[in-house]
Amino acid sequence: MTAFRSTTAHMLRDSKEYVSQTLMGGLSGFESPIGLDRRDRLNALRTGDIGFVHSWDINTSVDGPGTRMTVFMSGCPLRCQYCQNPDTWKMRDGQPVYLDAMIAKIARYQDLFKSTGGGITFSGGESMMQPAFVSRAFHAAKDMGVHTCLDTSGFLGHTYTDEMIDDIDLCLLDVKSGSEEKYHEVTGATLAPTIEFGQRLAKAGKKIWVRFVLVPGLTDSEENVEQVAQICETFGQAVEHIDVLGFHQLGRPKWRELRIPYPLEDAKSPSAQLKKRVMQQFESHGFVVY
Ligand code: SF4
Repeated sequence: MTAFRSTTAHMLRDSKEYVSQTLMGGLSGFESPIGLDRRDRLNALRTGDIGFVHSWDINTSVDGPGTRMTVFMSGCPLRCQYCQNPDTWKMRDGQPVYLDAMIAKIARYQDLFKSTGGGITFSGGESMMQPAFVSRAFHAAKDMGVHTCLDTSGFLGHTYTDEMIDDIDLCLLDVKSGSEEKYHEVTGATLAPTIEFGQRLAKAGKKIWVRFVLVPGLTDSEENVEQVAQICETFGQAVEHIDVLGFHQLGRPKWRELRIPYPLEDAKSPSAQLKKRVMQQFESHGFVVY
């Protein structure tokens, strides 16, 4: 497990180690809806009868405890400078998948999940872009006794009702920076919704694994880390640990392929010394840090 701690899940997915731990990939095993016109599709998307999915896989020790089925939903409202998967940004680039097919897939693996302490994780893109599909799949998973995990920036937390939060066991919450100004520079979006969603999760008694991506020259200042730590403190006992994820350049080819100007073209991975300093800063606030 610790072997994976210095890299993000996104980065990991491009690595050989990850491939060797992955049983499935792409969209194998799902039949896409056919014959739906645009209006039918929009309606089915709204109700959650279908979701647009980038890919899915079965993995271990990446997106939550145990062996997990991770489903990467397409669509993301953020534009993080360090995004490793810009190919997930547009929802329409995903494949429509029936909710029933997704639930059947969860049912198929439920014994594996239970025997390994694993479960289902929805990631992205931004998993909250399609709240009806994801929350209905989570509800079905909870009915089966399967552990549920939402990997999100929290930016669209307002789309989740308290009932929908009830079906989340664990949230991998990205706190991408600690002030509105820095958060906007990193993501193009606002920070307040992430804080608000984290606090709602905490109030509901949910568990949070905070993720912080460390990019030299962008997110690494002592002030920024301090502000992130102070935000995490407002989540109280909900925070089980903080993952400090070192930036890598494994996503660079995708930016080039998509012909999107890449702001971190020349950025470096953090040194061991820098990572240690940041981890110690979080630890000084009493957090368990990986
Ligand atoms: S939240 Fe940021 S890192 Fe994640 S998919 Fe969206 S743009 Fe990429």
